Amino acid sequence: MEPKFSKNKTSKVIMLGSTSVGKTSIIDRFIWNKFTEIREATIGCFNMKNVNFGSACIQLQLWDTAGQERFASLAPMYYRRADYAFIVFDLTNRESFERVQYYHHEIYANISPKNEPIHPVKIGIIGNKNDLISERKIQFEEAKNLADEINCPYFETSAKTGENIKEAFIEAAKAILLLC
Ligand code: GDP
Ligand code: MG
Repeated sequence: MEPKFSKNKTSKVIMLGSTSVGKTSIIDRFIWNKFTEIREATIGCFNMKNVNFGSACIQLQLWDTAGQERFASLAPMYYRRADYAFIVFDLTNRESFERVQYYHHEIYANISPKNEPIHPVKIGIIGNKNDLISERKIQFEEAKNLADEINCPYFETSAKTGENIKEAFIEAAKAILLLC
């Protein structure tokens, strides 16, 4: 049977979450395999990365914010027709964890242009900075419970050490493949 997707399916993947949780660092780790302690305010942009499964190739178009989440809500076009959304929080920052529900709601409020059918989207929750063991404020069970409640997979990552970063994006690519 022919696969339902074209060989070079491009998908839109958006990074959501409070400022400083590590959205840009997660993308840098995944795309360039690098990490920088001190970073300037993000330049909003998107990066491409291909993930291959046998004969299928999913091109991930990774959208990053320009830091506007610090001052204002993100523009609807940032969310619009995203195929996958990562909601990132910082395991050492409870406020960022409490923002997860807000972003979950915003996705559904903005994903489809008005008067158009609902665009299907998959969501994953990321607890980042799991290398900061002694500063940790949110335990695995608490985060996993929230993710289960909203029916999303949960990943604990470190952009610093690279732990689970590739795995999270591969799971995203798989989920997108199932949407095709
Ligand atoms: P953004 O505002 O969500 O894009 O966050 P950034 O990627 O700019 O990261 C904010 C700060 O957290 C920077 O100083 C990063 O070096 C740091 N950071 C990001 N990810 C990690 C991580 O996994 N572990 C540690 N220890 N620091 C991190
Ligand atoms: Mg950033």
